[in-house]
Amino acid sequence: MYAPPVQRLVTELGKLPGIGARTAQRLAFHILRTSPEEAGALADAIREVKERIGLCEICFNLADGPRCRICEDERRDTDVICVVEEAGDVIPVERTHEYRGRYHVLGGALSPIDGVDPDDLKIAELFTRVAQGGIREVVLATNPTTTGEATALHIADRLRERSPDVVVTRLASGLPVGGDLEYADEVTLGKAFAGRRRL
Ligand SMILES: [Zn+2]
Repeated sequence: MYAPPVQRLVTELGKLPGIGARTAQRLAFHILRTSPEEAGALADAIREVKERIGLCEICFNLADGPRCRICEDERRDTDVICVVEEAGDVIPVERTHEYRGRYHVLGGALSPIDGVDPDDLKIAELFTRVAQGGIREVVLATNPTTTGEATALHIADRLRERSPDVVVTRLASGLPVGGDLEYADEVTLGKAFAGRRRL
């Protein structure tokens, strides 16, 4: 239907989450209308983010070097770890200003139906971090979804066996059930943080 380069752009855009065929088409035509500089800036931004951004060697948050900014920040508490599903979940927690500790990004949530097992997430790495000592509390801030809850319970059980001295907490209810942390407003998320309970 389109010239092959246009079709290719439509196909690639259509692979993005939340972008259906019609939106992909509209975006492709928008890009075709922009100046070469503007379109080039978009292409360069995509290329650069893939070349320069990797995962922090400690917490698996996004990093533009071996360690992320939070792990490198000496002023942050080192004895609390907040466990989140995705790197995108760090930002809403940071926005609440309720939390001054470090993070651990799992890379998803346990979901046997989708074939996501503990080995597919950075769970063993979390246990290793905690076992190294110096950790007082682990806050489980996985999403309030079925898979997020299952992940929190799995980690809490294992941590109780391995590191009984570490307090394991979960964000207080009040977050929209079934929703993602990413979409919670900062006041609600801040309250959920302040009112976290022991698991
Ligand atoms: Zn880090």
